[in-house]
Order: sequence, then structure tokens, then C-alpha cells
Amino acid sequence: MKAIFKSNFSEITNETRLMQQKLRIIQVISQNGYGVTVPDICKELKISAPTGIKLVNELQSEGFLSVVGKKETLNGRKPAIYALKNVNFYALSVEILLKRITVGVIDSKLNTVYYRQKTDFVLENTPECLQDVEAFIIECLGNSGVGEESILGMGLGITGRVINETGDSLTFFNFLDQPLGEYLSRTLDIPVFLNNDTRCFGMAEKIIGKAKDVNHAIIINLSRGLGTSLIIDNKIVNGGMGFAGEMGHMQFGNKEKICLCGKKGCLGNDVGGYSLEESFMDRVYEGEKTMVEIPEDGSSVRYDEILMAALKGDDLSIKLIQEMGYRLGHALGNILNLLNPELIIIGGKFAKLKTLLLDPVKTGMSGSALVNPLQNCNIEFSELGDLGGLKGAGALVFEYFELIKQ
Ligand SMILES: [Zn+2]
Repeated sequence: MKAIFKSNFSEITNETRLMQQKLRIIQVISQNGYGVTVPDICKELKISAPTGIKLVNELQSEGFLSVVGKKETLNGRKPAIYALKNVNFYALSVEILLKRITVGVIDSKLNTVYYRQKTDFVLENTPECLQDVEAFIIECLGNSGVGEESILGMGLGITGRVINETGDSLTFFNFLDQPLGEYLSRTLDIPVFLNNDTRCFGMAEKIIGKAKDVNHAIIINLSRGLGTSLIIDNKIVNGGMGFAGEMGHMQFGNKEKICLCGKKGCLGNDVGGYSLEESFMDRVYEGEKTMVEIPEDGSSVRYDEILMAALKGDDLSIKLIQEMGYRLGHALGNILNLLNPELIIIGGKFAKLKTLLLDPVKTGMSGSALVNPLQNCNIEFSELGDLGGLKGAGALVFEYFELIKQ
């Protein structure tokens, strides 16, 4: 398939249009279940007969279609019936977080057919880091065993502010003289679609997760930081430029702490892995006891160790996580009053703390939400695991080519 993807994503050229039409033909045939004729295709796509013949011939020579018979007609002309050969499409999928990069190959049902994760990675806004990212993507693609010809494009979920329509990443790799999506599309020779990591996670929840049949939902991505995806009227909300859902920078937090964004009182300063590490170490230095081993070099305990300790019954860890749950719930109650969602999904690394988090979140919410929106909102915990964001990044590709719908 790569042969028809030589154009850059940024230029919506005739070639890109041609490619979309071809994918549409594949969709029409696959929905039909057996096979269709060129006149059927022309009618469905509203294209002329010469264009229809050209596209079908190309798909046939590229190995996607074969003739399986002739259609009986009254006037004697018997158009050929085309069916799909057994072809699978894939998306190359990349998730770049502050301390982790994951590269995978995802099929159109958002199953992960291959992935590799690097946890000794540190995201830096430097050309060297971008080079490392490119090298890792190329290495993984080579190791995946999936032929490049069946990869439709690359979906990238990256932390920070992203303008999904233009492919700009404003927080990381912003030193390029072109949008990050366009740059990667040129260097990797593949169409690239990008969005914020949390929005990708939200998409995965919407397409295959717990928000599948829900029209109004808030999806919390709670790991090292706090991210939020909104689903309103059955659609993921990007906002005007793509910056919607920054609940972590709403002023629901401690008014003394300064956030990375430069403001005081951001909720993300109080809720998330960073904040958990900080308050855990503060309490330890104040003399509180814990079963967690404290590093002797003065460095902080990692938040995932604190989460594990809480699950094993560590009193201090449980107490801190529950305090955090209450603060998150209190902030969510305000959002409930604004948006009246039917469902809140808590995902990310904290999702596994379901039994510890649910009650404090509910208590926090009841302190700020109105009775009616509160009574009509369920809280669920994501079951997509660590690869939710990666699957959602792959979904960007399939969504573009209309092979899946939100
Ligand atoms: Zn902030």
C-alpha cells in the first residue's frame, strides 16, 4: 500500500484523494460481504465510470482485489464482480510520554499485533531526543515482521499541547521549522497523524473501551500527570485548536504550589504520580512509617512503587492515595455540574487502585456536584491497561481513512 502513499500528509493532493477513494472501495466491498461491480462502486462513490475502472484496476494490480465472477444482466453485458483478497491493514502506532516511549503495530480492531516499550527513555525538547525517537521507530518497524505495504500510516500520541489538525506539537520538538507530523511524514516516508496522548487514550476508550456506547463521558488519564479527555454528544472534544480537556491545569489544587505551566493552584500539582512522590517523601521525612524501602541516596521513591505498596496494604500509601482521590473527586464534581456526563472513566496507572480510589472519589464528588448530575453519573475504571494510549494513536490512522468510527 505504501506505493500509493508517497505524498506528504500535509499536502492533501490528488494522490491522497485517490488513496481515500481506494480505501472507500475496499470498505464498500467489505460491507457488501461478497463482491461488487465497477458500476456499483461508481454509484456508491459518486465517481465517473473511467475513474472507477482506473481505481479498480490499480487495486487489482496492487494485489487487493480479484475477479470472482460476472454479474448476470438483462442486456447481455456482464460486468466483472470484484472481491477482496485476504488483506489486513495496520497502523504504526507510537506513544511518547515523559519517561516512556512505546512503538507498536495495531490492526483495525485496535488489537496490538506487536509492541516494544522503552522505559529508560526521557523526553527532552532536543534534536538529539527526536533522532533517538526516529531511530527507535525505524528499529521497531523492522522488527515487527509486518510488511510496510500493509501499513496505512503512523499515529502518534505525544504528551503536551498538540494541534491535531496541523500536526503541530507545541510543547515537545517545537524547534522544527515545520509541524512535527509533517517532519516525521517526510523522514519516515509515511502519512503521520498526531494528537495529545490523553486524547488518544480517550479515543481507545471510545472505540473499544468502556465509553463505547456512551454519549457523554469524562475520561481521566491518571499516571505521572493528570490528563482528561471529554466525550460530548458521542464525539471526542478537541476544542478550537486541540487544547480541550486540560483539567490538570484548572485551579482546584493547592494554592501555594507552582505548576510547570507557571501558575499556582493547578489540580495536576495535587493529583498524579509526581505529587504522590512528593507528598510521600514529605511524610516520610516527617517521621511516618512505611513498608516501602526508602532510597539511601536521597532520591524519591517512584510513584508506581507507592501504588504497589498501597495494594499490599501500606498504610501511608493508602492514606495518600485516598486523599488524592478525594481531591480528584471534588474537582470532578465541578465538571459534573458543567457537563452532566453519564460516565467517568479513571484510567492510567492509577486504574488498578479501583478498590482504594472509588469511595474517596465519590465522597469528593458529593461535596461539589449537584444531586441530579451526581445521581446520573457512573464511575468506572479503565481495563485497557498500559497500551490504551498506543491503541488510540493507531486509531487516528484508521479514523482518517474511515476504516473505524468513534
Ligand atoms: Zn498548570
